[in-house]
Amino acid sequence: MMTKSVQTTIENLKRNGFDVRYHETEAEAKAAILADIGQEESVGFGGSMTLNDMEIYEALKERGTPVTWAWKLSPGDDRLDLQKQSAIADIFLTSTNAITEDGSFVNIDGTGNRIAGMLFGHKRVLIVSGTNKIVRTHEEAILRIKNVASPANAKRLGKKTPCATTGKCMNCDSPDRICKATLTIDRQPGGNPITLHLIQGSYGY
Ligand code: SF4
Repeated sequence: MMTKSVQTTIENLKRNGFDVRYHETEAEAKAAILADIGQEESVGFGGSMTLNDMEIYEALKERGTPVTWAWKLSPGDDRLDLQKQSAIADIFLTSTNAITEDGSFVNIDGTGNRIAGMLFGHKRVLIVSGTNKIVRTHEEAILRIKNVASPANAKRLGKKTPCATTGKCMNCDSPDRICKATLTIDRQPGGNPITLHLIQGSYGY
């Protein structure tokens, strides 16, 4: 059942110009996302545990849709080349670190390819997120990212940062710091139409 917070968030995202599709289950969301992508449209991926767990890349590849994702390196692949190909794909498919109730997307990147792809360069951007990413304010979004998403990512990547061991942000100056660029998208950008596929429940981090 949709909570008041989710309802408010969807209303405000739509008011800010974003397209929003709400799904009660992962299976429903996966079917809708695959249907939302044309067979011949090229798809570039931004790093996302949600998409990885949902095996969207595998489903698209299996049906013959051209896909590129730097997380899916084959022998001989160059990570930077895959990131560049993703940057010019028809569709950029990614998740988000946080969604605010007033209708914005907040993300922090280490490399920058994910937030660059969310902002410009594609026919369309599809963001896939669980309702667990919804927070009340921009301040809470930053707190969520620095104390939930970034520590989990730093740990996953084996980074030597304080958050990787304590689970809390120390606003480090570590050479391994993964928080290097912050992007807030608070209105529908001019050249990169964004659709959010919002799934009830907890996905990714
Ligand atoms: S600033 Fe440093 S300690 Fe804080 S979340 Fe980012 S990587 Fe971790």
